Amino acid sequence: MNIILLGPPGAGKGTQAHHLVEARGMVQLSTGDMLREAKSSGTEMGNRVAEVMARGELVTDEIVIGLIREKLEAGAAGGFIFDGFPRTLAQADALGELLAEKGESLDAVVEMEVDDETLVQRVVNRAKEAAAAGRPVRADDNEDSMRTRLMEYYKKTAPLIGYYHAKGQLAKVNGLGQIAEVQASISAVLDS
Ligand code: ADP
Repeated sequence: MNIILLGPPGAGKGTQAHHLVEARGMVQLSTGDMLREAKSSGTEMGNRVAEVMARGELVTDEIVIGLIREKLEAGAAGGFIFDGFPRTLAQADALGELLAEKGESLDAVVEMEVDDETLVQRVVNRAKEAAAAGRPVRADDNEDSMRTRLMEYYKKTAPLIGYYHAKGQLAKVNGLGQIAEVQASISAVLDS
């Protein structure tokens, strides 16, 4: 089964995706992780996107669609979890086409709902914890970038909620509970 985890930055999509990889043998496709890898590899594309990401803005559709297209080639027996993609309507259309070309489709879009103040707090705490533990702090994990990321989400990504609702594919889960509670809610959606 192929699913999208949809939700604002800091909603916990990556955490839940990791669990689904362990529990169900699915393959996680996180465009954020792919872009950070490109950045650390020091390629021209990586350098170009690094600044955009640090500001909290979206990188171009062309770049992320290209990254996803490459990864879809490999296929995934347990299905794909799209994490942080699509983030725009153009990306959503492209994903539909890419899956259709492979004779595949989307089985569910799980929207994780978390309020803004909690999101900002989580991200600020994530940065503090990383700094305290000597891990690198993400360049976009600060309050300014986070406010921009939230605005980008509401302007460009939140319209996908209506888009997938209209296609009958949207399910909402409360992203505010303990990690295990959120896991259980997502499992219930996937098994329904
Ligand atoms: P989060 O969900 O915590 O904000 P991600 O790791 O998913 O973080 O994304 C970090 C940044 O990478 C985004 O703010 C954006 O700059 C870029 N990015 C990731 N995925 C996409 C995408 N699908 N389209 C455009 N930009 C993206």
